Amino acid sequence: MPAWRSISLWMDQLDEPLLPRPSLAQDLDLDVAIIGAGYTGLWTAYYLKRQAPQLNVAVIEAQTAGFGASGRNGGWLMGNLLGEDRLLAGLSPEQRRASFDLLHGIPDEVANVIEREGIDCDYRKGGVLYCAARYPEQEASLRQYLDSLYAQGLNQDDYRWLSPEQLAQQIRVAKPYGGIYAPHCATIQPAKLVRGLARAVERLGVRIYENSPVTHWQSGSLQTRQAAVRSRWIVPAVEGYSVTLPPLGRYQLPVQSLLVATEPLPESTWEEIGLSQGQAFSESSRQVTYGQRSMDNRLVFGARGGYQFASQLRHDFDLTRDEVELRRYLFGELFPQLKNVRITHSWGGNLGMSRHFKPHMLCDRRKGIALSGGYGGEGVGASNLGGRTLADLILQRDSQLLRQPWVLPERGLEALRAWEPEPCRWLGYNAIIRSFVHEDQTLANTASAPWRRRMASRIAGFMEGFMH
Ligand SMILES: Cc1cc2nc3c(=O)[nH]c(=O)nc-3n(C[C@H](O)[C@H](O)[C@H](O)COP(=O)(O)OP(=O)(O)OC[C@H]3O[C@@H](n4cnc5c(N)ncnc54)[C@H](O)[C@@H]3O)c2cc1C
Repeated sequence: MPAWRSISLWMDQLDEPLLPRPSLAQDLDLDVAIIGAGYTGLWTAYYLKRQAPQLNVAVIEAQTAGFGASGRNGGWLMGNLLGEDRLLAGLSPEQRRASFDLLHGIPDEVANVIEREGIDCDYRKGGVLYCAARYPEQEASLRQYLDSLYAQGLNQDDYRWLSPEQLAQQIRVAKPYGGIYAPHCATIQPAKLVRGLARAVERLGVRIYENSPVTHWQSGSLQTRQAAVRSRWIVPAVEGYSVTLPPLGRYQLPVQSLLVATEPLPESTWEEIGLSQGQAFSESSRQVTYGQRSMDNRLVFGARGGYQFASQLRHDFDLTRDEVELRRYLFGELFPQLKNVRITHSWGGNLGMSRHFKPHMLCDRRKGIALSGGYGGEGVGASNLGGRTLADLILQRDSQLLRQPWVLPERGLEALRAWEPEPCRWLGYNAIIRSFVHEDQTLANTASAPWRRRMASRIAGFMEGFMH
């Protein structure tokens, strides 16, 4: 049996034997065939079967439920979407407020389902802390971010500034410059959520086939090595693995994010650090860091990984020493008392980045294809919204979910922007990331002259502009 337990801390913590479900051994005729048993595929199956129990739905998975990003992520369940400011920019203030409320409600919707289905996934709605905690420029950029949120009609109940003293009531970092608190975020144990969801959809009558990679798909049918499936609807739900199902790889690039987890830390250490409510936290640099205190008192901390030439998937997530040490350095800047702590787990995964750097949920009724993805590292909550939205699109229900700017009803893949061909993608991605790393190193170095600091930030900001 493949070593699924070693995929992540989260899979390692499961107290189930991780036995594979049967693979797809015979041809099927379905109403809805879902490719991929991650959150997107399983949420779609869940909301479809809750509303239309008569539908014949199956999920076909290359490995096991939660093998992808859903069993590996940082466990931030956010009431946000990547690029929501750009997505909502064209709406009236009332529409925008309604869309924000819909997004902010995602963690509560997930809480309702896990309660109804008896899924214990360590859900704690402690909000999120964006900390200015490594260099003073972080305070200016966070304050600017907060102003931009208020300019979009959000208010103090949605996001509020924390002085260093107020920040310290929640998280105690070595160099506190202040931070932003937002309540609409929960932390979870990701693998427990995805595995629990898989069991919940099975109880609703969905069949899940594992160890059954789809080798070919098109409108109305798909193929595995052993069997053929005909289906009115095909839902490819493979986000970071889109290259395995051409032509989807043109629209979603696999990029990697990498995490480490410490050994469980003593209560005395957590009294120094805080994070007693299950808050998610990040330090506000372009390194895209994210952390949480796990239910068993570990620090789980991640940061952006990389992109491999020609969209090659990364399969080997035995992190190199440099990859582990970068993460140790970053969390050690926040919590110097953890600099030498033992790291027991390190891992990573592939996630899907759309060319617009914002998610999409689309439905091509003529071809019978429905798709949600491009979450860009913010997919734990977004995939719940995606599942609800795809279910309503397929069932042709008139709902508020469908009147959102990220929904493309009656549109096919051609509505998505394709990535540039190689080597442009690789060169572009690496140039942008290098500018981010250079900025971070310059700002973190207290000896850097003011003009160098300004220049590094300008270059990184200019490069970030290419991401929109
Ligand atoms: C390291 C990491 C940390 C992250 N942290 C966060 C976070 O804290 N908060 C947040 O909001 N988001 C986070 N994300 C992103 C989030 O986890 C993903 O956006 C989300 O899990 C995507 O779910 P999915 O179901 O669309 O895709 P996946 O979970 O990747 O599921 C896709 C499934 O498809 C299967 N598959 C692939 N190819 C085939 C094929 N040909 N045939 C059949 N099956 C196939 C895979 O095995 C996999 O099980 C993180 C991602 C990573 C990688």
